[in-house]
Amino acid sequence: MSDRPHRSGASAPSARRSEPEVPSDTVVTRGGRLERDPTTGTWHPVEPVERFRLGIDLDGVVADFHVGWMARYNREFRTALEHTQVVEWDGLHGLTHFTTMDEFWEWARRGEPSFFRELPLFPGAADTIERLGREHRIVILTSKFDWAIPDTLEWLAEHRILAREIHFVWDKTAVPCDVYLEDAPHNLVALVRERPESVVCRMVRPWNRPVPGSVDVDGWEQFEAVVRGLREGADDR
Ligand SMILES: [Mg+2]
Repeated sequence: MSDRPHRSGASAPSARRSEPEVPSDTVVTRGGRLERDPTTGTWHPVEPVERFRLGIDLDGVVADFHVGWMARYNREFRTALEHTQVVEWDGLHGLTHFTTMDEFWEWARRGEPSFFRELPLFPGAADTIERLGREHRIVILTSKFDWAIPDTLEWLAEHRILAREIHFVWDKTAVPCDVYLEDAPHNLVALVRERPESVVCRMVRPWNRPVPGSVDVDGWEQFEAVVRGLREGADDR
């Protein structure tokens, strides 16, 4: 017997070629869903239907970077920093005893694990990503030093972030997406400039300001509403 896996709907294999084009045969295998090309008869893997590619930043958007690093810093140096003190993107080290950001990052990489493993989630982030992921492709775009990559992957797994793609990139414009969600001023400016066909959302935070050409979203509920509106707009066309 053939080891071809169980057929899951679609057209019967005996469908005559002369009939109107019907969906190819599909099967679900151990390795995912396969579809048969009706012309050549060959099988090839298919991705599930996804409406938009959602390019989502992590730190400051999904993961609460400032609460996380300050918790460790306060423990280690017996200080009382609070996340509300961060009102600018640049000059973070000015809140600490470090004199440069290089010193800050040297400290950050110490410890097993680094604080990237311990960042709290922003409220609503994981649930919203889970819902959006049922219809769209979740593409995580995060800028990380090499040393932070393993902790970030463990963090994503612990919080069950259903990302189909994870990109560790410094230049986020290199990864095409339909919608971006970002908090870093320089990334927002670059995405608006380099990806004019995309919708760029600024996650409103005390350390960023409006960026011409971007859409302000103040929290995950608003981001979900923006994506829903775009999808409904696309459906109407
Ligand atoms: Mg960020």
